[in-house]
Formats: sequence, structure tokens, C-alpha cells
Amino acid sequence: MRGFGKRHIGLLSLAVVALAGCSQGETKVSAQHAAAQKSGKPASAQEAHKAAAERAAKVKANELGQIPVIMYHRVVAKPAGPDDRTPQQFRSELERLAKDGYVPITAKEYTTGRIGIPAGRHPVVLTFDDSSPSQLTLDGMGAPKPDTAVGILQDVARKNPGFRPVATFYVIKDMFGTFGPEAQAQTLGWLRDNGFDIGNHTRDHLNLRGKSKDQVTDQIVAGHKLITSLIKDAPSTLALPYGNQPSTKDWAMHGGAGGTNYNYTGVFLAGYTPAPSPFSKDFDPLGIPRIRAMDKVGDCARFCSTAWLDWLNAHPEERYTSDGDVRTVAFPKFKAPYAAPRFARYTLPY
Ligand SMILES: [Zn+2]
Repeated sequence: MRGFGKRHIGLLSLAVVALAGCSQGETKVSAQHAAAQKSGKPASAQEAHKAAAERAAKVKANELGQIPVIMYHRVVAKPAGPDDRTPQQFRSELERLAKDGYVPITAKEYTTGRIGIPAGRHPVVLTFDDSSPSQLTLDGMGAPKPDTAVGILQDVARKNPGFRPVATFYVIKDMFGTFGPEAQAQTLGWLRDNGFDIGNHTRDHLNLRGKSKDQVTDQIVAGHKLITSLIKDAPSTLALPYGNQPSTKDWAMHGGAGGTNYNYTGVFLAGYTPAPSPFSKDFDPLGIPRIRAMDKVGDCARFCSTAWLDWLNAHPEERYTSDGDVRTVAFPKFKAPYAAPRFARYTLPY
């Protein structure tokens, strides 16, 4: 597994090229590909295509399969509610994900289809809501405290090479329990500088259901500005407070007020199923389901993380498995009707 980091960076930059092609027309790579297809493919291109399809088949690639997006809140020694996990429960779930062949990707990578993980592996999106100090607290040296979610994630990643220590943090005004713009900028800046993804969870965490367009937009803009006032990078995705959608779903995705605009690549809900592949027809960026982190108790006997991870292990044909090449969307031929037409030029059925 050594050298994974370098390989990964290479894959991601290729993904950027491939996806730029999706939205903005021809890139060099796709133009060559299209030319080869038009001419009935020269022998070398045909052979390369055949070899890629054989590689995809060998690992049973299924890039139209489902992806677990897990929702965490606090990671505390004494759970106070059904959303809390203990440090040991959190660590055990990460170790299980590593053992089951999952590799974390961010919400931004997922919603933009930049899933650059090795062949045969499965993506998982780890999301943390409400920016509590139990998720990240920096010590006097500016390093994450070991019993925080970030500290545990980094430790599990060190012990499981290839398990990327990345996650998405949906932040609100309680910025990891820090006070003042300097401490808040230090904490958010640490996340950004260490490859973590920062998303908007609105400023005040109000229920947006039934609110007017102005009220919805104001809360989202306020959360957006909270982030951009502290670090330069704007958030790419939003998680709705309580998972509740506004009466017009698109208000959560696109909007603006007072000179600040947002144009997100995805809006996340709070329950209760794995999420569709971004390359699948089922993918709806206006409402992406997440799975609550919890053992098989009560409603969670079927609808939370332990239950769904068991189910995905038992139904590998339903789960996203990478072919190791971000330039292609590989899947068994019979799944072709599920592919979103906008990715047609990247598909690799086998
Ligand atoms: Zn929340």
C-alpha cells in the first residue's frame, strides 16, 4: 500500500480533467476518445478499451452502486442522546470500514464524481454535523487532541494504510467551541490545510421547513459567510438542519442575498438509506440521503450505520466498487439502464 498517496493525487487530477469535460465540453482526453470512437476506434484504442473492461470485470467494478454517507454528531465518553457516539464506538466503526474495503472521500468529491480510490475498493463519505469540540479541538501545539473525532480518524488511518483521513464538517456558529475570529480561523484553517472538507449547515441551525424564500436564503448565506469570513475557500455542499427541506428544494442549492451567492454541488438530508452513485440516474443533488451512525437497536435495527454496512456487505452487487480509474464509469453491462446520460462518454460496461 505504500505510494498510495502519490497515486491518489494522480488519479484526482485526472478526475478533474475528466469532469471538466463533462460540464464544459471537450477536453484533450475526451476529444481523443471521441475521435477514436467516431473512426470506429483504431486497433490500439480497441485493445486499451478491452483491457480496461477486463480489469474492471476482474474487481467486479460497479460505479453505479450505492455509497454510504455516514452522519456523525458528537463523539463523547458519555453519550447524552441517540446522535452521540463514544470514542470507542467511533473507532470501531472506522476500523470496520477499513476492514470492509472502504476508503473515505469527501462530500465535495462525491457530489462532483471525483472518486479516486483504488480498484476493488468502496467509497464512504464521513460527515460531521454541528461543529462540536468533540469533533476537533487543537492542543497547545496546534495538533488535534487524540480523543476527538479527527484525532481518532487520523490514528485509524495511520494503522490502516490507504484509509484516507478525510471527512466533511458541516459547521454552524458554534465553531468547535472556539471563541473569536482568530481561534475559529485557526480551527477551520487546520481542517482545510489537512485535506478535510468544510460544508455549510447554516448559521443558526433553524428548521427551514415552511420558511419563506428570504428566510431560507438568509440562513444559508449567513452560514456561507461564516465560513468564507474565516478561510478563503467557499463551501461546496450544504447539510440541512434536521434534514428538513425548504418548500422549494432548490432554495437550498442555489441562491444569494446581499452580494453573497451560493451554488452548491449537493444538499444532504438526515436519513435513512445509502446514497446513489453520482453517475446513476437516481442521483438527486437536491436531497442526498445519509445514514445515522448507530448500532442495530430500535429503528436502527434496519436504518442506521451498522445495519446498512451489514446489508451492503451481504449485497455486493448493490454497492459502489471502484475500477481504480477515475476517467471511466465501469459497471456490469446489464446495469447500463441506470447510468445517467450525462456521463455516457465515460461509461465502461463489461
Ligand atoms: Zn445539525
